[in-house]
Amino acid sequence: MTPRVVVLAAPSGGGKTTIANELRRRLPTIFGYSVSATTRKPRTGERDGEDYYFLTREEFQRRVRAGDFLEWAEYAGELYGTLQAEVARVLAGGKHVVLDIEVKGAQQVRTVYPRPASVSIFVIPPSPRVLIERLRKRRTESEQELRERLAIAVREVETARADVPVRRVFDHILVNDDLDTAVNRVIEWADAREAGRPVPDMAARLADFVRELEQEAGQLRPSARRST
Ligand code: ADP
Ligand code: 5GP
Repeated sequence: MTPRVVVLAAPSGGGKTTIANELRRRLPTIFGYSVSATTRKPRTGERDGEDYYFLTREEFQRRVRAGDFLEWAEYAGELYGTLQAEVARVLAGGKHVVLDIEVKGAQQVRTVYPRPASVSIFVIPPSPRVLIERLRKRRTESEQELRERLAIAVREVETARADVPVRRVFDHILVNDDLDTAVNRVIEWADAREAGRPVPDMAARLADFVRELEQEAGQLRPSARRST
C-alpha cells in the first residue's frame, strides 16, 4: 500500500468527522488522522491535541508566518489549518492520512498533492433536509451559526457541482446515506489511483441540492419566517 492523502470535504454536517473516526476505528493500521489547528473554541467533549489543536488567533497567525501549514482557510470567522508536521507524521508511519477540511483547503491540498498522491472526496448527505436535521441533532451550533454554516454550504456544494465535469479538485462525490456503505466506499477509493468515473446525473443532483438548500436555508431566516 502506498500511503496517500485522503481528503474528505463536505458542507458542515455532511459527515466528514464521523466517517474519519469510523475509518480509524475499523482500520487503525491503515488510516491515520491529521489533527488540524483552529482558533474556534472547543465544543463540549472536544480535547486539545485530539480533535483539534486549539490556538489563539495570534499563535495561529504566527504559525502561518512560520510556514507550518500545508493549507489554511477562514471559515465562519475562525481560522482552520492542516499542519505539515501532522501529515508527515502519519505518512511516515505508513498510513493513509485523512484530512477533514472545508472546500478552500481541499483546493489547496490538490495543488500540493496532485493525483495520485492524494484522493479527494466531496461528501454530501442524501438531501438538504437531512443535512439540516443532522446538524440540529448534533446540537453544536446556535441558530445563527447554523444559518451561517448553511450559507457556506450552498457555496461549497456549488463549487463541487462546477468541479464535476473537470475533476480538478474532487475525484469522487460520496452520498453519505448509510454510514457503513459510505465508509466502505472511502476504503475502496483510498486505493484507487484514478478519479472516479463520472456519475451521469451527479452534476444535476448537486444543482438540485444547491437549489433546495437555498430554499430550506431561506425558510430559517427570521425575516422569511415572519413573512410566511
Ligand atoms: P461534519 O464533520 O461533516 O460536520 P459530522 O460527522 O459531525 O459532520 O456529522 C454531522 C451529524 O450527522 C453528526 O451528528 C453525525 O452523528 C450524523 N451523521 C453522520 N453521518 C451519518 C449517517 N450516515 N447517518 C446518520 N447520521 C449521520
Ligand atoms: P467545525 O467547526 O465544524 O469543526 O469545522 C468547520 C469546518 O472547518 C468544517 O468544514 C471542517 O471540515 C473545516 N476544517 C477543519 N479542519 C480544517 C483544516 O485543517 N483546514 C481547513 N481548510 N478546514 C478545516
